[in-house]
Amino acid sequence: MDASGERRWPVVVATPAHRGLIGPLSYRSELALSPGALVRVPLGRREVLGIVWDDPEDSIEPHPGERPVSAQLTGVAPLGVAWRRLVSFAASYYQRGLGEVALAALPPQLRDLSAEQLARRLRRRPGHDAPPTTSLGCAPPLTEQQQQALDRIEQEPGPFLLFGATGSGKTEVYLHAVSRALQSDPTAQALVMVPEINLTPQLLARFTERFGLDQVVAMHSGLTPAQRLRGWLAAHAGEARIVLGTRMAVFASMPSLRLIVVDEEHDPSYKQQEGARYSARDLAVLRGRLEGARVLLGSATPSLESWQASESGRYRRLEMPARIGAGSLPEVRLVDMNLQPRQTLLSSALLEAIGERIQRGEQSLIFLNRRGYAPVLACTACEWKSSCPRCSAFRVFHKLDRSLRCHHCGHAERVPRACPDCGNVDIAPMGRGTERLEEHLSELLQGVQGVGSDGQPRPVRIARMDADSTRGKGALEAQLEQVHAGEVDVLVGTQMITKGHDFRRITLVAAVNPDSALFSSDFRAPERLFALLMQAAGRAGRNAAQAASSQMWVQTFNPRHPLFAALRRHDYPGFAHGQLEERRVASMPPFAFQALLRAEAKTQQAALAFLQAAREATAGLPGAEYVTLYSPVPMAVQRVADIERVQLLVESDARPALQRFLAAWQPVLHALREPGMVRWAVDVDPLAV
Ligand code: ADP
Ligand code: ZN
Ligand code: ZN
Repeated sequence: MDASGERRWPVVVATPAHRGLIGPLSYRSELALSPGALVRVPLGRREVLGIVWDDPEDSIEPHPGERPVSAQLTGVAPLGVAWRRLVSFAASYYQRGLGEVALAALPPQLRDLSAEQLARRLRRRPGHDAPPTTSLGCAPPLTEQQQQALDRIEQEPGPFLLFGATGSGKTEVYLHAVSRALQSDPTAQALVMVPEINLTPQLLARFTERFGLDQVVAMHSGLTPAQRLRGWLAAHAGEARIVLGTRMAVFASMPSLRLIVVDEEHDPSYKQQEGARYSARDLAVLRGRLEGARVLLGSATPSLESWQASESGRYRRLEMPARIGAGSLPEVRLVDMNLQPRQTLLSSALLEAIGERIQRGEQSLIFLNRRGYAPVLACTACEWKSSCPRCSAFRVFHKLDRSLRCHHCGHAERVPRACPDCGNVDIAPMGRGTERLEEHLSELLQGVQGVGSDGQPRPVRIARMDADSTRGKGALEAQLEQVHAGEVDVLVGTQMITKGHDFRRITLVAAVNPDSALFSSDFRAPERLFALLMQAAGRAGRNAAQAASSQMWVQTFNPRHPLFAALRRHDYPGFAHGQLEERRVASMPPFAFQALLRAEAKTQQAALAFLQAAREATAGLPGAEYVTLYSPVPMAVQRVADIERVQLLVESDARPALQRFLAAWQPVLHALREPGMVRWAVDVDPLAV
């Protein structure tokens, strides 16, 4: 330390990606800082938020151009060492800058407010002493399988994979596990992650009901910046004992974390798809290890990665095969679409079954993974189709506002009156989306009548739920409420409606057209389809009294596909076994480790040239001898918004070798200059290959 008491501190700031994976920058300060402290520092011409990353550097050699810390954010306690380790790990594992990952993990307002603004905000915050909570007063008595799972969670180290059928009461296990964790000491905290926002209202209600409103904070992208900051501060200060959030919550600062729950751990939305492409599930497992917190992953259809880990003993498997109340899983019926008249959307047997439900006052849920009216509009006289001028994809026809919309770039236009190429006025929708399914159903069900709450007949009510219908604020909650209240007879939608919801009156679920996933080039497509169908089936018969008569219908041109055979038996282990054997033989994940180098450029040629150069520059890099680099190929949707997208697959039998290789490759990639390149990025453990 020099005479003035000035020291040099390593400070992490958000640095632009093009500067590569640089670590902390050095700033000088006389302030009594400590590792983890939040500071404002100058960066270029701006003043930005920084995090003191470590102890001050010993050397007192003056550094030319080293600038002083502007201010410390004194109202916020320093970020803990475990949090910093988690962030460091994530940055290095996912090949991103430390500053980028660290700052993105904080609520936006914390980054944007000046020291004074933040101080003012903090003064306005109601201080509160967290009352001890663990009232499980309103909890039902646990079933034996729930009890056993909980006992093992308490007695064994984990990580745990809770493999429980849909409706087996996993949420109740989470609630109890959280309660026990909080009882272990007066400051203990728990983190509960869920895949998507639309699952949160119901679950959040269950948690606040159990633990009290001020004990639980939500963390997801649907909150306002002010709410995000408030929740983050409450968790960071230890006032909030429970954080319930989406993938971003894995980075919540929680000083006394004891338990991490990852609900529906198989869900692809745990993988971030831009910036640092982290897997929140994988980071949760790591975070548990770093902080000595129990980790509990739950699913009725675990990811094959987690299933394999539970087979090999790396994870402890807890099984809950039975549904609550001895309810059975729905009977699965396959409709062979080869035997139906051409162009059949809904087979007559399925329609009849839906009609019967309506007349009994029960609900049906029908899903189709395509929103809009029709995926393509086509001219009946020439070759014209509604392709997107900017993407290698068709624009989808939305009938409600008569628009053609590209689901990749957002490009939208009114439907032309006549074919733009030949002037023919007869342009026709091809294929079907949820809007058309809804329209079609209301025609087909015209003769059917529902049962009103007074027992009197009334017209059938069909509702549609997809990304279009739930766009407005509160729209999703309102629609879910209608379904729960029994105001809807048939719910039509995308896979959004198949996940997690605890619908009590649904006794029939139908997948209208799930076949495309059977022939996808993505090796994970069957895994995802099976999970989707099992989850969808899980929405039916959740009321044990009706479970025996509940059904899951699947319309398919491939009724003899083994995936459907496993589905009929509700046999996840059988399905997983088959898939894992195939993957083992083919040396694919989880038996191999992958990364993708993605390149985006103005021309495909430029993108390819970049990847070729990247590939050629790998000779002699550490780890290169254990890594296979495949030929660059265009991505499935090869052009989006006039940008060409190409990718190169990197694979290795050993994760450490792949990591070593990627780390050595980064500076090489940063040094490559290819004209026309827009950007590139590495995706470690990619989900879509
Ligand atoms: P999962 O998450 O496994 O699909 P849930 O936790 O949503 O299942 O439980 C299904 C239903 O059973 C819920 O309505 C829940 O309140 C109820 N339930 C859970 N555990 C019990 C129990 N021990 N006794 C009675 N009802 C229960
Ligand atoms: Zn035409
Ligand atoms: Zn487009």
